Amino acid sequence: MTKRTFGVIGLAVMGENLALNVESRGFPIAVYNRTSAKTEEFMATRAQGKDIKAAYSLEEFVQVLERPRKILVMVKAGKPVDAVIGQLKPLLEAGDTIIDGGNSLYEDTERRTKDLEATGLGFVGMGVSGGEEGALNGPSLMPGGTKAAYDDLAPILVKIAAQVDDGPCVTYIGPGGAGHYVKMVHNGIEYGDMQLIAEAYDILKNIAGLDNSQLHEVFAQWNTTDELNSFLIEITADIFKYIDKETDRHLIDFILDAAGQKGTGRWTVQSALELGVAIPTIYAAVNARIMSSYKEQRVEAAKVLKGPSASFDVGDTQTFIDKVRDALYCSKICSYAQGMALLSKASEAYNYNLDLAEDARIWKGGCIIRARFLDKIKAAFNESPKLPNLLLAPEFKQKILDRQKAWREVLVAANSMGIAIPAFSSSLDYFDSYRREVLPQNLTQAQRDYFGAHTYERTDRARGEFFHTEWMEP
Ligand code: NAP
Repeated sequence: MTKRTFGVIGLAVMGENLALNVESRGFPIAVYNRTSAKTEEFMATRAQGKDIKAAYSLEEFVQVLERPRKILVMVKAGKPVDAVIGQLKPLLEAGDTIIDGGNSLYEDTERRTKDLEATGLGFVGMGVSGGEEGALNGPSLMPGGTKAAYDDLAPILVKIAAQVDDGPCVTYIGPGGAGHYVKMVHNGIEYGDMQLIAEAYDILKNIAGLDNSQLHEVFAQWNTTDELNSFLIEITADIFKYIDKETDRHLIDFILDAAGQKGTGRWTVQSALELGVAIPTIYAAVNARIMSSYKEQRVEAAKVLKGPSASFDVGDTQTFIDKVRDALYCSKICSYAQGMALLSKASEAYNYNLDLAEDARIWKGGCIIRARFLDKIKAAFNESPKLPNLLLAPEFKQKILDRQKAWREVLVAANSMGIAIPAFSSSLDYFDSYRREVLPQNLTQAQRDYFGAHTYERTDRARGEFFHTEWMEP
């Protein structure tokens, strides 16, 4: 039997689909899963007739792989990844590469890269986005780590990745944990996008009074626009027309309003706090999921904490829908501006040497946040790689300035009706904080100096000169 070009460990949803994707591009592969019944089931079903060799021990698995070995580990993130690496390490030889395609924390990836590179092995921490369908037909891949190992893998990765007008959705992201860092921020942006869409839904449903069929129409129409065309808007339109087989009514109305999360949004916020980067929209999205999980408390609170009884006259419904569209778009730009600013700061702090235009490009296809407007983000960073904030890119600046009146009106409508719109509001606050030359933190500094002698700088002196005042006159 010819040796196998590529190996996959872990045959849950993602591993299975990536294995089939790699095989379908003409690479003979080997697979292994800790629980052998899972491997047997895969071989008897989806792997039937394919150029896939099953191995039932790791020793057998590494034996059938051609050298230098390329092994994709697709197991549960965290300890399982270390366990698999620990078992593989003694079986591998210098030059072999382990790829971790799970949602690993970038700090773990830093540690694993150092550890494996020190033994002569290559390690690639690779973010994979696109879920099950993307894994099978073309995901967005964010590989980082050992550069030589990436170069070796590139001929396979460029074939299995999603393909867009300007190439495959894969690029070498950077050293160490760079790939998983970029994937983490991708997921943070995904949280922001999803929350913004949820808020637009809330406004359209509870202020404009749209029913599910109308919501379907609105989102389907928005998906035809350059501004909002995206995978998440597309699936949102689909969701509003889905009829539940049991009740023969719209399924969306039977889904409990308590959102889950697996941690990548929280990691993004934690990292942003550590690096001192403001990402309020993404943070609001994480908080919104947490608030939604207080279902029982909310049910009780709703009985006693009454909101405003006001109604809001939306005027012409189509005009109001257009305003919500504009508010969504402006908020979305702010959310991406935050995500890109975080990447930029992390690149500097961790020496990732990120190419933000390339990072935006590889999100254009395959991944959950794929969207037409990423092309414009790519163009903005191509034109100005050191752009301090996406809001300053001429294209986005103008789009927001043209729409900010509508954006503010939508926020007023939601506030007056007592409808929480944390991501819309945080986005506008981000915009207003960023664009104002003078903020009230002169008072914050005065207070800090008053109670803690933390000193302050003066507007009439050079930056870097610090003053202290004895605020309590004798
Ligand atoms: P998963 O449910 O996260 O993990 C299940 C797999 O991990 C099984 O193959 C399981 O083997 C293996 N495993 C667990 N503990 C192990 C251990 N100690 N030693 C060896 N193997 C162990 O699978 P998944 O949903 O396919 O996701 C895989 C990775 O991709 C995760 O990091 C996930 O976060 C990431 N990811 C998932 C998606 C998605 O849409 N699902 C999208 C992008 C990224 P057994 O069968 O023996 O239990």
